[in-house]
Amino acid sequence: MLAYDSHYYGGAWQASRGAGVIDVLSSATEAVVGRVPRGTPDDVDQAVRAARAAFETWSQVPPEQRANWLDKLAAALKPRVPQIAELISHEVGTALSYSTKVQVEFPVTMIGMNARFIRSAALEEELGTSLVVKEPVGVVGCITPWNYPLHQVVCKIAPALAAGCTVVLKPAELAPLSAGMLAEAAHEIGLPAGVLNIVFGEGKVVGEAIVAHRGVDMVSFTGSLAAGRRVAAVAGDGIKRVCLELGGKSAFVVLDDAPFEKAIPAGVNNCMQNSGQTCSAWTRMLVPRARHDEAVELAKTQLAKLTLGDPFDGATRLGPLASAAQRDRVLGYIDRGKSEGAALAAGGGRPSNLPNGYYVEPTIFANVEPGMTIAQEEIFGPVLSVLPYDGEDDAVRIANDSIYGLAGGVWSATKERALDVARRLRTGQVDINGARFNALAPFGGYKQSGVGREIGPHALDEFFQLKAIQQ
Ligand code: NAD
Repeated sequence: MLAYDSHYYGGAWQASRGAGVIDVLSSATEAVVGRVPRGTPDDVDQAVRAARAAFETWSQVPPEQRANWLDKLAAALKPRVPQIAELISHEVGTALSYSTKVQVEFPVTMIGMNARFIRSAALEEELGTSLVVKEPVGVVGCITPWNYPLHQVVCKIAPALAAGCTVVLKPAELAPLSAGMLAEAAHEIGLPAGVLNIVFGEGKVVGEAIVAHRGVDMVSFTGSLAAGRRVAAVAGDGIKRVCLELGGKSAFVVLDDAPFEKAIPAGVNNCMQNSGQTCSAWTRMLVPRARHDEAVELAKTQLAKLTLGDPFDGATRLGPLASAAQRDRVLGYIDRGKSEGAALAAGGGRPSNLPNGYYVEPTIFANVEPGMTIAQEEIFGPVLSVLPYDGEDDAVRIANDSIYGLAGGVWSATKERALDVARRLRTGQVDINGARFNALAPFGGYKQSGVGREIGPHALDEFFQLKAIQQ
């Protein structure tokens, strides 16, 4: 049990101005494993004032020194990795080994990477008679989701702090505990007061108060399309810069010459990682119609290898979903798939051997048509839709037939052919022939998957203003 009774702003733990609390539940046992205060707009106001005051000095700290602070922050988090991984496995349901590597070690590494990016960033450029200078945007409001809780926080605060901005962060109410531990680490290293501020609470109250606050210059939001729309509208009123990282419905195009025995398992693994609670997951698998049944059989074989169970059991690959609401939402989509005529090929319900916790069986639908709800809407659970296509142009058409454009995959026997198709996909990322995630590459969406980019050196630019000085 990890309980915080305060927010962290102005360099100190501060009593909440409201009396409410939020219980954090274990997704595997449904027991209470943590608690945070339910913040109020008053708490937000105090935190923004602290961030504004700190901006005056932090923005003038030389980049090399800001980089040193990030290195110290990463070092202070390292001994906390096992505890944070365990907390996130409770909160989100992620299997502990994956949680340790992906949920915690990776973001800690990313803090250090941002230190390197700012050290080597070119912050001034001469263009004709102008000196063009990159300056920090100001106070950034960061609002994050629960699926990769520390990672999403780091994607925002590390480049923001590196760029010279100060931050007011509201972590997800379902998974806020790693943000509390981040505050502890920042406090331990003596990060200057007001540079990193955290207010716990609900999106509609604390989140919206951050977005609307006149002292906030920019909002960096990751979450659902519906909440992103609201954030963009409220931020628009104050003409604030927004970076929005929203949902996805990514397609994996398996071309007819692909090695199916490699490509299909890779596609299943990608869709199911973190029990499908991954924004970039390849939830639509597009296969040539003539090889549809073969692909479905290979997918079922791979799925059977992904053991569903307790996130703390070493044999587990897929844990429960993060909440009862998430479980019910996913089960609702499975019902919708059945009623719209998709063929249920595997899974499709709650596992009878796991009565407690928010478990849903990993599920495959075959013969899915592009217009079906399960082919269009983000389910955010372990549900794969296999869609047949007729020829390469048809595959590209179906892949792009989405309001989203976050990620995708292509697999072909030849790299050139895969690359040709990758260039035709309207998405922010595409992996070809099983290429791995690259922590230097910009990540973000086309279309309604968002605005702006995170991760890698490009992420820094989100947090800069350009000033032109004519001389
Ligand atoms: P969510 O939109 O419900 O909540 C995200 C955050 O926004 C939470 O902190 C929440 O409290 C806050 N929020 C909610 N309403 C708000 C409002 N009106 N004003 C301000 N803040 C508000 O999303 P979620 O369920 O936590 O996360 C799942 C979603 O996040 C999925 O759609 C997923 O695709 C998306 N996501 C996207 C990326 C990406 O990089 N594109 C990464 C991870 C998750």
